[in-house]
Amino acid sequence: MDYFEEYCTKFVQSVGSKDGAVSPTIVNSASFAYETPEIAEGIFNGSIKKPLYSRMGNPTTSKLESIMAEMDDGVGAIATSSGMGAIALAVMSLLTCKDEIISIGGLFGGTYSFFSETLSRFGVKTHFFDVDELENIKNAVNENTKIIFLESVGNPNMRLPDIKKIAAIANECGVALMVDNTITPLSILPLKLGADICIYSTTKIISGNSSALGGCVVFRAIKEKDDKFKTPRYKELEKFIKNMGKMALVVNAKKRAMRDFGMSANAHSSYLTMLGLETLALRMDRIVKSVETVAKELHKNGLNINHPCLDTHPHHQRYLSDFPNGCGTLLTIDMLTKERAFAFLNKTKIATITANIGDSRTLALHMSSTIYSDFDEKTKNFLGITDGLIRVSIGLENPKDIIEDFLISAK
Ligand SMILES: *Cc1c(COP(=O)(O)O)cnc(C)c1O
Repeated sequence: MDYFEEYCTKFVQSVGSKDGAVSPTIVNSASFAYETPEIAEGIFNGSIKKPLYSRMGNPTTSKLESIMAEMDDGVGAIATSSGMGAIALAVMSLLTCKDEIISIGGLFGGTYSFFSETLSRFGVKTHFFDVDELENIKNAVNENTKIIFLESVGNPNMRLPDIKKIAAIANECGVALMVDNTITPLSILPLKLGADICIYSTTKIISGNSSALGGCVVFRAIKEKDDKFKTPRYKELEKFIKNMGKMALVVNAKKRAMRDFGMSANAHSSYLTMLGLETLALRMDRIVKSVETVAKELHKNGLNINHPCLDTHPHHQRYLSDFPNGCGTLLTIDMLTKERAFAFLNKTKIATITANIGDSRTLALHMSSTIYSDFDEKTKNFLGITDGLIRVSIGLENPKDIIEDFLISAK
């Protein structure tokens, strides 16, 4: 099945309305009136489905959430103010002091600092592993392990995980698997591969043009019979499972994270994100093809390119078998020294120098002097950050123009 094609139909149909305003309505109200005290009581106890207060849910954002849940085959979704907000929501909804996280792959700089510095201040310990350390990952699970966290594609190391194998370990050990799928929406469907929770920064390819900061978390349904969330490891979930059944993970995250930390999405950003969703499948389809074209041509011309479509990449076979719809918009160029990397970035006319990825335009950034400048050598080594590394996010431009510009800039 061609998922991109399927979603070309689904997204435009579900974002637009066939009654009244075609484009989604922006409900720009922080609070909502309840008409009678009886209705207020019903809204607060959940028996009446009407908006309560925009921190807990907004009609524009709800529409975005239902489309995102459908995209990933989840039972529900919660949109947030940013991708880091989405990670914080998902993680904080399950964690208690003394719990442990197993973090695999990547890792996006913000997530790395959140786990290694911020969460450790609250007594939560994180163990970091490469995607291929399956034995060590399994051995690291103990009774305090609450979360296995994985990025669908290493950013910026471009290493690809065997998501099914990691999901099998998570299921065997009874631990929740969260996948940050920011780089590969539609290309990879984590919940179908065995993950429990799927996380996005919608700021990137989903909205797609730098117009809106946002995030989203998609949850699977709690199963009727046996479920790893019904075990003592997740005893805090018990009351939500009893009262809310299959929706328990969503309600738990709303009550234990969204209500108390307040990383809520705003209606205007949710609107812009939906406009992005309308064309997501089209843009992904074009860009994953362009990335391959650009990577192969630059590699052929002697540049140091890291992308799994190249047969020199250690995960080339996995790319062919498990990533038939590509692995997102990124590739990296190693110019070997900071000076040569800066010279490239000063010369390129096509790339916009910025920290974003997944944009309509081609973007580029020198890694070790920016996002990773605070990191020590050992951490940079682990994350694959070398002195000359430039991360590139390919855009919608004609790939021939990108290749021509990059070859001139690398001279
Ligand atoms: C950008 C990014 C985030 C953080 O998202 P923000 O919207 O910037 O908060 C998280 N994970 C990955 C993989 C990202 O690329």
